[in-house]
Amino acid sequence: MAAQHNRQSTINDRNNNEVKENNMTMENPFEGKEVWFGVGSQDLYGEEALRQVAEQSGEIVDALNATGKIPVKIVLKPTLKSSDGVKAFMVEASANPNVIGVITWCHTFSPAKMWIRGLEVLTKPLLQLNTQHHFEIPWETIDMDFMNLNQAAHGDREFGYILTRLGINRKIVVGHYTDPEVAEQIATWTRACAGWDASNNMKVMRWGDNMRNVAVTEGDKTEAERVFGASINTWAVNELCAAYDAVKDDQVKEIIEDYKAKYDVDPELLDAKYDSLFIAAKEEAAMVNMMRANGCTAGVDNFEDLGSLPQLPGVGPQRFPSEYGFGFSAEGDWKTAVLVRIGAVMGYGLDGGASLMEDYSYNFVPGREKIMGSHMLETSPSIGTIAKPKLEIHPLGIGGKADPVRLVFTGAPKKDAVVVSMSDVRERFRLTMNVVDIVEPDGSLKELPCARALWVPRPNLKTSAECWLRSGASHHTCMTTSVGREAWEDFARIAGVELATIDENTTAREFERDLEISEMYHRLNNRH
Ligand code: MN
Repeated sequence: MAAQHNRQSTINDRNNNEVKENNMTMENPFEGKEVWFGVGSQDLYGEEALRQVAEQSGEIVDALNATGKIPVKIVLKPTLKSSDGVKAFMVEASANPNVIGVITWCHTFSPAKMWIRGLEVLTKPLLQLNTQHHFEIPWETIDMDFMNLNQAAHGDREFGYILTRLGINRKIVVGHYTDPEVAEQIATWTRACAGWDASNNMKVMRWGDNMRNVAVTEGDKTEAERVFGASINTWAVNELCAAYDAVKDDQVKEIIEDYKAKYDVDPELLDAKYDSLFIAAKEEAAMVNMMRANGCTAGVDNFEDLGSLPQLPGVGPQRFPSEYGFGFSAEGDWKTAVLVRIGAVMGYGLDGGASLMEDYSYNFVPGREKIMGSHMLETSPSIGTIAKPKLEIHPLGIGGKADPVRLVFTGAPKKDAVVVSMSDVRERFRLTMNVVDIVEPDGSLKELPCARALWVPRPNLKTSAECWLRSGASHHTCMTTSVGREAWEDFARIAGVELATIDENTTAREFERDLEISEMYHRLNNRH
């Protein structure tokens, strides 16, 4: 009883502290970012034609910006008419940290040799927009002047040739600029550009090393920095323990208030085991403080190496993607942490989010085949939940620590979600993606004390699993419910990384063949 009383008085002391500003928000990754719009032409056309090119290009850019779909501003730059002009444009776009991508369009014919020197120095993602100012051929009035001015069908083919010849990866979007699909495709690509920007500025904090003897989570971190730009380093768990000791009660209290506002907190945690909740929130604060102090946007821990931390962090890492926009993965798996951060950035502002996921259990019942994914603690509610997550405490069979506090929920149904894995296939990284439909579970799962999601993989469980195994893809994945396959395809193209996709059209036989061809392609193509 005395112990109970002491604990209660500690709670009251904590409650008397003032709540400080809420720092549990994700930084907007699109803030201040731009995509530059470069229109190709040449001097041959004369002043009047070039004036019309600039004016009509402005109309197109304004219309795209006005859709409200594209999360960054598209900025029209002066018409490109010469090799020197193209090079200056590309140098400037490459050097400006706020420019996350470049869109090009040739309103008129722009002889493509004038693009070579500029394209060779472009370091930003490129989108080739094959659009047109007019929607319909003006059947009764079209004359030679009109055709000379409006010839993107012609100019963009010359431009496409040089891009392909130079081996420059780009997204190609075809359609009239008022076509909603055009804005949607550009929007998805700008999200991939933001993911690439985040990847290139990412610092990953690893507390401890890899889980002992696990193969797929090992890998070449130096190569990862070359390919993805992400800097992945290890900090001693002792430093995290010191950061834990340094956390002020105010911050812990603020986090607990956030728990109470967002989750159904088990009354047991608020009463007899309040210290457990306090410890869990304090661990969250320590991790976040240490990451922020070091400019990190993704974190990785390992239950085998927790030093003097009282619990394996559960609720804290679960909140990394949902509250902070940070990537997280467990057991030393920096690859999935990188993907979760990229997924969180690409999906910013959309419904759903990104989370560490792990394939756990199959339902083989005919007609109800599905996969249950989970992790022992760390799956994030950012993917969307059927009901308000419950904050609970349960024993954990491994790790030899105090019972960890964790959010328990079931992922909300969602069509066209994806799980994405990164594996290290010796001389390169391979991304494998499965398009999945998240569904309701067939039963209560009431005895399962951790977060989970159920999904029907496309094209079906057997083919999906066979292809996943064939691809050597990881048991850890990043699940995204905000952005789907197109954003990850755009990202992989920008990064120049292999992406094997399992979708509704996949057959095991063709997938095996595709992997073999892809293997040859990536060994021959050493541009990246
Ligand atoms: Mn795991």
